[in-house]
Amino acid sequence: MKYFSTRNSMYGVTAAEAIAKGLAPDGGLFVPETLPQLDMDEIAALCNMDYCGRAVYIMSKYLDDFSEDELKALCASAYGSGFDCDAVAPLRVLNGTTAVLELWHGPTCAFKDMALQLLPHLLTASLKKCGEERRVCILVATSGDTGKAALEGFADVPGTKIQVFYPNDGVSEAQKLQMITQTGKNVGVTAVVGNFDDAQSGVKRIFSDADFASKLTERGYFLSSANSINWGRLLPQIVYYFSAYCDFVKSGGIALGDTVDFSVPTGNFGNILAGWYARSMGLPVCRLLCASNANNVLSDFLASGCYDRNRAFHNTLSPSMDILVSSNLERLLCNLSGSTEETAGYMKQLSDSGRYTVSPKLKAAIDECFVGGYCSDAETLETIKTVWDKDSYLMDTHTAVAYKVLCDIRSGEGVERPCIVVSTASPFKFSDSVLKALGDNAEKSGAELIERLSEVSGIEVPLPLRGLTEREVRFKDIIPPSGMKTAVDEFLK
Ligand SMILES: *Cc1c(COP(=O)(O)O)cnc(C)c1O
Repeated sequence: MKYFSTRNSMYGVTAAEAIAKGLAPDGGLFVPETLPQLDMDEIAALCNMDYCGRAVYIMSKYLDDFSEDELKALCASAYGSGFDCDAVAPLRVLNGTTAVLELWHGPTCAFKDMALQLLPHLLTASLKKCGEERRVCILVATSGDTGKAALEGFADVPGTKIQVFYPNDGVSEAQKLQMITQTGKNVGVTAVVGNFDDAQSGVKRIFSDADFASKLTERGYFLSSANSINWGRLLPQIVYYFSAYCDFVKSGGIALGDTVDFSVPTGNFGNILAGWYARSMGLPVCRLLCASNANNVLSDFLASGCYDRNRAFHNTLSPSMDILVSSNLERLLCNLSGSTEETAGYMKQLSDSGRYTVSPKLKAAIDECFVGGYCSDAETLETIKTVWDKDSYLMDTHTAVAYKVLCDIRSGEGVERPCIVVSTASPFKFSDSVLKALGDNAEKSGAELIERLSEVSGIEVPLPLRGLTEREVRFKDIIPPSGMKTAVDEFLK
């Protein structure tokens, strides 16, 4: 199967090349030329497989340059002991029509693990297939979650190194502890004086430094990123939509062939787009509910057809969704319009003026499947409390946004169709907000909040978040942005 850029249909590459390159040379994203189809017999067969079996079956349809044995080995290393339950992505049925898909049983207790546990293995295998002999060094600027998930994914993966820069003033105490205590022989973690933008600009400068790149080539290294527009991060996410559907069938909540909705807390549009791929491959999904916080650029877009990033940015209680440019939307526009010229036009308008309006035809195609909604921080907290009181189920702030948007849509329509709420983080990752929602105002900070939430809820702290303060601190450097290149230079000596 070939992959093409969303902005130019002339240039086709293999799956391995798409993953090795990350971004197309014209700035577009790689999309598969066709969407493989699964019939109901195949979905019935998936119901009897474990998570790895489902992952191998679905991903092999897109990765025809990988053998089945290769994929089995990749999935076994990704979805094994790093996860705290055999189901990997378990489905919790709350009541007859509502279930929650928990994507946070991996090593960092958040959904990015679903892709970042697999990507390093997929990437090194892809580089080998492309004849790349240099070793890859992943550079990450992080505002918290992605950095830790990437560190966990790449730690001790042969043929790779990873250097993470985090803003000294821009991450929570728990996030910082998670990163500076990271284990692994091939990892580096450094604090940068300033905010996230300072760290991000520093990384971009290093990427565009051609002299530095050739110096690294002489040493047998090249630099790459692990960001969410890489096809290798999207593909593993398609799997859990199928997996959740199968588990809902097995629980008796729906019958095989029934349609379900999914409600997805959305930021960069990567998670929900994977749901759209699953739907387009034949999974009986009726609608995808695109849930936003106060940064409601996507729900405005779904209502009006106009994407407009010229607006105030809000820091919310669901920070991983605080995004104004949802990069992965470009893939949907390309697939539904069927035109790379049209897509390139929208993206040019976005970079020139910060906005674009899609054609009525494209708008109609999007409306056929997507419906948007958003909620405030106050509603987020209220929702956590309501669900805890009613169903004894504890949700984090991101999941609560998706749950609230589902409730709004259901009450607006006066019907309750079966729906799976996609849960993207453990409540313990956002202990401060969750405690506030439950009405607990204990004067605590950092890691103590995690213990406190466990006391209040009677739920055990997930293993990766236990004893954070007792772990050995391995990384203490704090540098100015001007020192970042030297830090990478030293790291790769
Ligand atoms: C990244 C993230 C999201 C948003 O996912 P997208 O793929 O960017 O839409 C939602 N919740 C949590 C906890 C996340 O880490």
